[in-house]
Amino acid sequence: MKDLSVYIHIPFCDHKCIYCDFYSLVSYDNENRFFEILKKEIRHFSGLLQDEYQIPTIFFGGGTPSFVDVAYISSVISELKQSFKFKNKVEITLETNPGTVDQKKLEQFLDAGVNRLSVGIQSFNNDELKFLTRIHNEKTAIETVNGAHQVGFENISIDLIFNLPGQSRESWINNLEKVIELPVKHISAYSLILERGTILNKMVLDGRIKMQDEDYDADLYETTIDFFIKNNFIQYEVSNFCKRGYECRHNLAYWKHKEYLGLGPSAHSFINKKRWWNISSLKMYINSVERIGNAILNTEQLEYEQLLDEFVMLNLRGSGLDIHELNSKFGATWISKNGSYLDKLSKGNYITNSNNEIKFTKKGYLICDEILINFK
Ligand code: SF4
Repeated sequence: MKDLSVYIHIPFCDHKCIYCDFYSLVSYDNENRFFEILKKEIRHFSGLLQDEYQIPTIFFGGGTPSFVDVAYISSVISELKQSFKFKNKVEITLETNPGTVDQKKLEQFLDAGVNRLSVGIQSFNNDELKFLTRIHNEKTAIETVNGAHQVGFENISIDLIFNLPGQSRESWINNLEKVIELPVKHISAYSLILERGTILNKMVLDGRIKMQDEDYDADLYETTIDFFIKNNFIQYEVSNFCKRGYECRHNLAYWKHKEYLGLGPSAHSFINKKRWWNISSLKMYINSVERIGNAILNTEQLEYEQLLDEFVMLNLRGSGLDIHELNSKFGATWISKNGSYLDKLSKGNYITNSNNEIKFTKKGYLICDEILINFK
């Protein structure tokens, strides 16, 4: 049987953060209906896929999955268990926002089968949190992580955002120092991105906010890599760091170009060389799944070139490109076409090329987007 990672999009939030472009709703009148329909969508896909696939990882994202009643999450896990074969030790991650959980709720999530938390901290600085319009403060952030650890969560990840407008280097380093005092095994650290259609984008366009420049962004990123490496974390993707053995298996599936099924509004899937994505509207999602069992808005058949590009890009941004795997999937042409560029990168210390694996060095990660566009 083949592996199929499952992503579940829970589209409810307490409010809309200024920088966010994920599909989420502040009103949640349809909560009950949504979960009924989500289970119908699971059954629809299990009818098509259960003979061929087993589940190694489940990721509840959103939105704010920790915002809804634990019973809903628990019922989705049960539905998946009844509908698909589970692999041994399935990794089940729940995105959790401080301010939406207390100790009791965290304990209930653990009892429901969630075994990994991804906590949306973003910053430990109260002014920065206010700017990002998050509902928590430093105290709640720290209490959430410690509380999760106390109730028995051993695999805790946190998200951080750097290069906020006006954020000093000291303030960012202060954030990093707070992390390592906590029982955290994994960190995702992203630079603030201006997404179209967000309130933040409008604020920048109106001249009310000024973003910091790219060199400063690169400096903070380099500081981040150095800091985590010094503190015994490994970097296993451009923006992701962990203690050895705590790589997020679900994200590894994306970065290793494995197959995944996305359920819920706006979720994306990649199965059998096809990519499809669901409608980004809760109402339309509910109507569509009710009628035909799925809410697919569009499907794209990926051709050889596209699959090859994605495979190379994702693996290089991740923990490395396995040459044997590349050659057995796509033939040896990529290596021969890019041989001289790879030599140049290797001489410049941007990549290492040994044991049949090409990996970015720290210097390479710093300019990886520039490097990737130059491959043929
Ligand atoms: S809590 Fe997360 S998903 Fe919800 S609006 Fe804020 S950033 Fe977006």
